[in-house]
Amino acid sequence: MEQLGFEGMPRRLYSCTPSRLNTWLDCPRRYRMTYLDRPMPAKGLPWAHNSLGASVHNALAAWWKLPEHERTPEAAGALLERGWLTDGFRDQAQSAGQRARAREMVERYAAGLDPSDEPVGVERTVATRTDRIAVSGRIDRLDERGAELVVVDYKTGRRAQTADDARGSLALALYAIASSRVLRKPCHKVELHHLPSGEVAVWEHTDESLGRHLQRAEQIAAEAQDADEAYRTRLKPTAKPRPGEAPDHAPFDAVFPPSTGSLCGWCDFQRHCPEGQAAAARKEPWAALPAE
Ligand code: SF4
Repeated sequence: MEQLGFEGMPRRLYSCTPSRLNTWLDCPRRYRMTYLDRPMPAKGLPWAHNSLGASVHNALAAWWKLPEHERTPEAAGALLERGWLTDGFRDQAQSAGQRARAREMVERYAAGLDPSDEPVGVERTVATRTDRIAVSGRIDRLDERGAELVVVDYKTGRRAQTADDARGSLALALYAIASSRVLRKPCHKVELHHLPSGEVAVWEHTDESLGRHLQRAEQIAAEAQDADEAYRTRLKPTAKPRPGEAPDHAPFDAVFPPSTGSLCGWCDFQRHCPEGQAAAARKEPWAALPAE
């Protein structure tokens, strides 16, 4: 599908996920390495907190697939143990300690769930489009409460979430819009369920606030799409990097500048980015885990 661009030229619909849009906002150089450079530059070591997060998400998704009478807290714990991912931990002892904590966490969370309260979707992919963007993403859980849908996102990081986090999340707002369009039901409420603390951060959007998020997504997408087009049509590296060599950033930096800061220590591509290395020390792969 094509539309007329700003200069009257036919323009493709920009297909994206909320994650792609956020990556463009965070750092255009990281965006380029993640979505455009092929082959993709090798990433750094896997992160233990990602293993923990994925293990918890997988366990809770599998829990809802069990027959209703088997949806017990202990079953959630057993699923967590069975699917535990071990990448990124310092050693086996650290992995085992975190697994035990994570098991407690999902059992506590599952104890607060009503097994008969079937969600409308679990790990459900939803998509929607405007005349500028086609956006899709996967929702951790989609509940139906009364006449409305509710977007639920699980969080397993150290920091508790706030209503402001829920309000400001582009991803949650886009999921609410997409869910409403796909299932033809209103969806205004978005929730961040922080499993370590058991706290739930809630925001009730209005049609206007959802519209503002969608407009914002279109603005970000327009910038990223211009950059994508420049990458394809006029930016050329001077030479292909040899395996293990840093990519030559110079030809791209006017369009894809590095955006340095403390988050560079967490960037998967920091090893390829001299400016990012100067900005922040590399974090250990297990640095974001909760204290043992
Ligand atoms: S290290 Fe920092 S500046 Fe470099 S690509 Fe990653 S986020 Fe961007």
